[in-house]
Amino acid sequence: MADKVLVVTGGSTGIGAAVARMAAAQGYAVGLSYRSSEEPARQVVEEIRRAGGRALAMKADSASPAETAAFFAAVDRELGRVTALVNNAGITGPISRIEALDPAALDQVLAINVKGCFLALREAILRMATDLGGTGGAVVNVSSRASEIGGANEWVHYAASKGAVDTLTVGASRELAPRGIRVNAVNPGLIDTEIHAKAGVPDRAERFRPMIPMGRAGSAEEVADVILWLLSDQSSYVTGALVPIGGGR
Ligand code: NAP
Repeated sequence: MADKVLVVTGGSTGIGAAVARMAAAQGYAVGLSYRSSEEPARQVVEEIRRAGGRALAMKADSASPAETAAFFAAVDRELGRVTALVNNAGITGPISRIEALDPAALDQVLAINVKGCFLALREAILRMATDLGGTGGAVVNVSSRASEIGGANEWVHYAASKGAVDTLTVGASRELAPRGIRVNAVNPGLIDTEIHAKAGVPDRAERFRPMIPMGRAGSAEEVADVILWLLSDQSSYVTGALVPIGGGR
């Protein structure tokens, strides 16, 4: 069993996969979940194992309490007690103005992006909190710069879900600081991953480039770097922070 055990929700592609690879290279055993992208998840695990690390991937919908509990139980059994959580699984939902948004799509965005963070956090607290027999830990929630920018004419529903993640981060950080758990968030701006193509706008990074002071989209690795720092002892006095990673936007 490893000393450092990380759970990454949505670790099959994009930012989550970059976190999983980077964490494994830094000595974490890594459990990663996905909803449908089994093959990419399998490849991340294989890559980590080939490099001598320990990892498992499991299909677990972050919006499902039962699947989330089963995922953490699998990590307990195969990797050891979780010491770090990255709440990364997320979707944008469709591009839509507010009045045209399908209520079912709104439910799905909120269930995956907001409820999902609560469900995984609950499982992590039960294992990490010092008053429950744990040895403490660190949590990073993957929010978005959209929580401040608002997503007008595109995805206010998504932006609002990330606003909830920011508030959850601050509240949880205060509730859990006395119990040995730090909780922070990163707020990425435009990052070059598959999320834009999944929302039907594969050229989004290119179209928004002129609005970014640094003149380019960020990479998943540039976000993972900050997440790994927030999980590490190098940030031991940082909790409740919302860290913008937006190239100035
Ligand atoms: P991505 O490549 O689409 O990755 C999303 C990951 O979440 C995938 O592993 C996906 O797996 C998983 N996932 C989605 N729904 C899930 C569910 N219900 N249960 C479990 N896993 C689920 O996108 P990304 O850009 O890396 O996004 C990662 C996080 O960063 C998200 O929270 C997103 O909101 C946030 N973010 C991204 C950007 C950006 O510009 N890329 C900016 C700000 C914030 P499946 O494919 O199997 O569903």
